[in-house]
Amino acid sequence: MRLPIFLLCLLGALSCAAAPLQLTDEHPVVRPAPWLEYLLPGTELDFAEAARAEGWRGLGGDSLSLGYQDAPVWVRLPLRNASARDDWRLLVEWPILDRVELRLLDPASGRWGPLLQAGDHLPLSAWPEPGRQPLFPLAVASGEERWVYLRLHSREGIVAPIQLITEDVYRAQEMDQRLVLGLFFGAMLAVLLYNFSLFLFTRHLSYLWYSLYLLGVVVYELSLSGFGVLFLWPELGRPAGLIYAFSALWSFFAATCFVRVFLRIPRYGGWVLWANNLLLGYWSLAMILLFLRPQWLVALGTPVAAILSCLLALATAVSLWRRGNRSALLFGLAWSLLVICTAVHIAALYGALPLNQFTLRSQTLGFFSEFILLSIALADRINRERAARIQAQAALLEEREIGLAAQQQMLDVQRGLNEELDRRVRERTHELEQARLDLERANDELTRLSYTDALTQLANRRQVDEQLRLLAGRELAVLMLDIDHFKQINDRFGHPFGDRCIAAVAEVLRQQVRRSGDLAARYGGEEFIVLLRGCTPEAAERIAERIRVEVAALALVHEGETVPLTVSLGLAHGRGDGRGALGAADQALYEAKQGGRNRVCVAR
Ligand code: GH3
Ligand code: MG
Ligand code: MG
Repeated sequence: MRLPIFLLCLLGALSCAAAPLQLTDEHPVVRPAPWLEYLLPGTELDFAEAARAEGWRGLGGDSLSLGYQDAPVWVRLPLRNASARDDWRLLVEWPILDRVELRLLDPASGRWGPLLQAGDHLPLSAWPEPGRQPLFPLAVASGEERWVYLRLHSREGIVAPIQLITEDVYRAQEMDQRLVLGLFFGAMLAVLLYNFSLFLFTRHLSYLWYSLYLLGVVVYELSLSGFGVLFLWPELGRPAGLIYAFSALWSFFAATCFVRVFLRIPRYGGWVLWANNLLLGYWSLAMILLFLRPQWLVALGTPVAAILSCLLALATAVSLWRRGNRSALLFGLAWSLLVICTAVHIAALYGALPLNQFTLRSQTLGFFSEFILLSIALADRINRERAARIQAQAALLEEREIGLAAQQQMLDVQRGLNEELDRRVRERTHELEQARLDLERANDELTRLSYTDALTQLANRRQVDEQLRLLAGRELAVLMLDIDHFKQINDRFGHPFGDRCIAAVAEVLRQQVRRSGDLAARYGGEEFIVLLRGCTPEAAERIAERIRVEVAALALVHEGETVPLTVSLGLAHGRGDGRGALGAADQALYEAKQGGRNRVCVAR
């Protein structure tokens, strides 16, 4: 790329040093770089001295770009108006030059034309023609030849992309460029206001620094495009020269802050944080020095720092991206775009690339694409953060649900335990109740047994005594009964048969004494007692008689032999517990025995 340009320029220098640049009708726009000569004098010169000075050199490039110069730089250009027009203009497409002075020299007469001045240290009204960029009318009539002498002074680097252009073409070109620039500023302002309002709503510092960075770039672009001097600060004069430099430094500073907040650099620490701190310190210092000691800025290596800043930002992005910072990828892309576009822009300014509207504006394009990509990156970040927040909330909810489920489970277990306990208590209570009932039953049985005669299952003597006690004072008939000659029966037929006889008599009593409240009992041996409640003496006697008859009719058989069995009965009437009735009945029984047995005797 460089070699053909170099050859072209060498050719241009050889051929054109002698012949002036021809302005023709066919080419209403000419970039005169190959015809330009420049002079870097050690001392201050006026136009006449500069014209006479030694040391003029051909440019040898596509663009006039001479770096930082303390003293003014001289540029000259011989030209001949071979066109039919006399409205040629010289346009310097670099509105941030502090001061641009122009005079025309008529080589034939040696006379100088009037001094024309423009540049950002002068109010716009002092410029020969108000515009975005220094624009000088060239008073060169058709067919005439002139030398254009330019004196350029700038605290920033000397860059002067120059065009020779006819007025109508200039106006048409200017219309197009203003339209494009207007669109650019409109878009930038929209992005700026949008992001600033996002900051107001979200209070997210990323948005604030992004907006401040954008603001810096917008002001920088206003300076660089000349829109600032044309529309915003036309009469500011010298201080306007500071706007460009300050906005550039501010943009770097704000961008460094933005990177810090957006990529969360303090969280990572290490060299990334160190580099960021260093750059913040550097750009802060540079902004202060701009006002106090602007000449030191060059010594401080601002352009080098700018390049370093860009490279460090890129390295940071790559490093953080590899450590899993997803925002870093989009940021790195956006930043690379800007860096590449700026590199193209600078390369064109320094003659390494052809100078045209594209290369001249490629940085603007870079900013535009960068801001669009950064907006996307910011939206992506916010989106991801929101998603993470929602996920965290869901996790929390799930955790809470798990907690609730665990609690529920615990309650269930507890309920189960309670139910089990309940069941066991009920079981135990039931068992105890059962045991109690069993015990009661056993007691009852014991009681029953203690009141019952084992052989006959009639009541025993004990129950008779109890009954007599309970019936104390009540009217009562007492019947005492004894088997006749029982000893003989025992002796003849054996004791077991005797038992059968006792049981048979008991069965007769059971049959005959059925009224509730009456009691038949075995009083001991072969003696029985019957207690009859509320019974008349006659009725009692009838019962006694019936018992006697029934026993006599028993006819028990022992080994084929019918054994006669009789009983004697004593009957007495009296009151309960009155032992008298019992004694009287015993006495009556005795009498019945004495009277011949098998009879009933009533006590008198
Ligand atoms: P009496 O007519 O005067 O009553 O004459 P007795 O033979 O019945 O005389 P006593 O009443 O004195 O005799 C009772 C006999 O009954 C004595 C005893 O051997 C018998 N004896 C008492 N208890 C039982 C018993 O449970 N079973 C049997 N087989 N004999 C008994
Ligand atoms: Mg007896
Ligand atoms: Mg007897």
